[in-house]
Amino acid sequence: MSCFRYPEAATTYSEFRAWIWSFGLTADSRGMVCEPDSPRKEEMEIQARWFGGEFGREFTGTEGEKIEIVQFGHWNRGAGPDFTEAAVRIDGELKGGAIEIDMDARNWESHGHGANPDFENVVLHVFTDGPSLNRFFTRTDAHRNIPQLQLPQYSWSQGPPDFLPEAFPGRCVSPLSAMNDGEVDSLLHSAAQYRMRNKARRLSVMADSTDPEQALFQGLAEALGFGPNKTAMAVLAQRCPVGELQKLDHVERDARLFGAAGFLRPDVMEMTEDPESHTYLRDLWDCWWKMRDRVEPIRTRAIPWRVSGNRPLNHPQRRIGALSALVGFWEKLPDLWTSPVNNLEKHVNNLVKNIEHPFWERHYTLRSNPAERSLRLVGKDRLRDMLGNVIFPGAIGENEAFWAEYLTLRKVDSNHKIRRAALRLFGPDRERQKLFTSYYHQQQGLLQIYQDFCLEDLSECERCPFPEQLTQWSRGGGAGSRAGEAG
Ligand code: SF4
Repeated sequence: MSCFRYPEAATTYSEFRAWIWSFGLTADSRGMVCEPDSPRKEEMEIQARWFGGEFGREFTGTEGEKIEIVQFGHWNRGAGPDFTEAAVRIDGELKGGAIEIDMDARNWESHGHGANPDFENVVLHVFTDGPSLNRFFTRTDAHRNIPQLQLPQYSWSQGPPDFLPEAFPGRCVSPLSAMNDGEVDSLLHSAAQYRMRNKARRLSVMADSTDPEQALFQGLAEALGFGPNKTAMAVLAQRCPVGELQKLDHVERDARLFGAAGFLRPDVMEMTEDPESHTYLRDLWDCWWKMRDRVEPIRTRAIPWRVSGNRPLNHPQRRIGALSALVGFWEKLPDLWTSPVNNLEKHVNNLVKNIEHPFWERHYTLRSNPAERSLRLVGKDRLRDMLGNVIFPGAIGENEAFWAEYLTLRKVDSNHKIRRAALRLFGPDRERQKLFTSYYHQQQGLLQIYQDFCLEDLSECERCPFPEQLTQWSRGGGAGSRAGEAG
């Protein structure tokens, strides 16, 4: 692994990036992309083909599960799921129930199935299309996660393709594959440093404008809300400053956070039949009504949460529970920033292991029944994002020597943008995709290039300047003086 001094490589990437874009390219000159129309297939036709066995009986679910349709069940002629009394074997476990088939995964919510008790016994959600950017999770009214199966999207006359990629490889695949591993590594490393420098600067500006502890608190809240509720968590952290939360006991703190988030209403206790949830909600409400007039935003200023389409473990209410538990450990956290310790990752891991919340270690939502097993308050990927997006940038802003330790931080698994960027830049070369996404900084470098070029491109790569300029990077290990050449 190459190790450039921080922030020299950031400067190199910054110059390389500026140099590429210095050729006068504008959004207009980059052209427009035409979204291909997805063929509109009739839902009933898919259901009939499914029921007739045309898709087969054995599939792989969206989470990689082995799915076998043991019995297709019966067409439902009334309200409720499409096929009842079906039997499905998922990873060897036989489940009886209903099957719902939609054109698009999101129809589950837009058709109101997620809040309809008639759909509680669905054991499999089948669909042909889903959101292009975000993963959508299917959950029941009781917040049970339903296994998903995405059928191949194909033209009925041509039959299914063998391979359905999440994104298409870009024009830069060829020049990148001509670069050796060291050259690609140096490019990603430099892009990652550039990204880190921007994050460190942002935190520093936030710390100067508010105070370091509040900036750290907001940063951690954003990392917990990643990705669909990042902004919502930032707003919540701003409306409930850490300095005020620290003065409250743990029940008042939860009440303040959940109330300000808009999750506590006068009828809140009626929303659950679970005795534990009922007791917890009553305690929260007893505190909340006393502070409500001072803290509750008016309706038009309510925080917009995304509660559907997330894994049950990622429900925003669980994230708020974790944020509240972090405040309980707050006196140990700000030191990470102002006087960073040796081996930051290990230190933070040990701290987070000790963070507890008796309710949120057992519940998915405020009104769900208790989970059978204890649930981690902060999972592996959330912890790495807290380290990579907040704690290391804060520490590196104080002491550049932490860059070397940051380079050892391992990858996160759950970021669809990284998967897409790797596919666009490395094509189907799985070995390179793996080699260059094993560490957090490599993933960040990829994301930076994706942001700088793929998201700026409106021509399906045709007018993207990145591929042509990569040879320059190979020749000199960076743009360096070429920034001057362009001028
Ligand atoms: S837009 Fe540019 S950087 Fe992105 S895949 Fe296409 S050629 Fe590569």
